[in-house]
Amino acid sequence: MKTAMIVVAGGQGIRAGGRVPKQYQLVAGKPILHHALVHAADCPEIDHIQVVIGDDHKSLFDEMIREAPPTVGEKLAPVVNGGASRQQSTLAGLQALPDTIETVLVHDAARPFLPGAVIRALLEAVEAGVGAVPTLRIPDSVKRLEIDRVIEDPNRDGLVRAQTPQAFRRNDLLAAFAAASTDGYTDEASLARSNGIRIVSVPGSEALFKITQPDDFAKAEAHMQTHLPDVRTGMGFDVHAFEPGDHAIICGVPVPHTHKLKGHSDADVGLHALTDAIFGALGDGDIGDHFPPSDPQWKGAASDAFLRFAVERVKERGGVIGHADITLICERPKIGPFRQAMKDNVASLLGVAHDRVSIKATTTEKLGFTGRQEGIAAQAVATIRLP
Ligand code: MG
Repeated sequence: MKTAMIVVAGGQGIRAGGRVPKQYQLVAGKPILHHALVHAADCPEIDHIQVVIGDDHKSLFDEMIREAPPTVGEKLAPVVNGGASRQQSTLAGLQALPDTIETVLVHDAARPFLPGAVIRALLEAVEAGVGAVPTLRIPDSVKRLEIDRVIEDPNRDGLVRAQTPQAFRRNDLLAAFAAASTDGYTDEASLARSNGIRIVSVPGSEALFKITQPDDFAKAEAHMQTHLPDVRTGMGFDVHAFEPGDHAIICGVPVPHTHKLKGHSDADVGLHALTDAIFGALGDGDIGDHFPPSDPQWKGAASDAFLRFAVERVKERGGVIGHADITLICERPKIGPFRQAMKDNVASLLGVAHDRVSIKATTTEKLGFTGRQEGIAAQAVATIRLP
């Protein structure tokens, strides 16, 4: 049974806000459609992926697909343009499928996650000769509104929410499209059922949620935090000596002191240790490889650029930052009064919540170079999650 997935990606997604259509907006550094395609390509049950795009989205799609892993390229057919409606777009995808395809899954581009168990349940149902749709029960009471006024309290018994992908035998779905007399169906299951195909329900998944509103992007980011299985930890260490001055930049915060830190850049010992910790977790060299001290463009540079670059490398891999813990080692200056500002700054540079950043300070009991107040040392541990 050769199986194709048609990913309908022609919409504009106006409710989600943003400057580009929502399927091209980023979750964990990658477009939503990228995530949907990666998950589809990772499903061994799916042999062929047909994306249907909006007429004016070709350059957005091409830019996105350049960054996609090779697994996507192996299954992806050349894209086709959609029509004015969801129905016309799905039909364009159906008509582009090779003759060898027997089973079709039709999927929304705005659902970035795709549990394998749902795919298997759908395909098993289709083997029995029906169409299949993943559904979820509705735990809340249901109301019908007229603007903001409740005008009806429908009984929710037997009501479910329908998700995608929806599965059909290809020839059945083609026949149903040929027979469809209106253009108003919001999903393929309703079109197919109206045209004689029996549709059954299989258990859906909360992970199949659709990104519709601006808040849904945060939900998707949170989902990725808990569903990226490759958890990695890296450590970083850095030292900078003092030289005469009136403040030291530590974790991006100017701290008044009798000396400043000496270095090629702004010598931010805390951000350097953290940047190296992230490179360590990625297995991606160190700060000196990416920003050679011999390169004049980094002279006096603010070290946030180094940290932002490391964070970008994590996002390019489809990952997220889980946590960062920095220990600053010095007798002077006192870190305590600046700790909150440092934490705020680091959390903002990493793009994470405050409780995912820790800044600690210690002395070496007047021993060694830090004890003699010749400089500051910093250690950092970073935890990242990758797909
Ligand atoms: Mg350094």
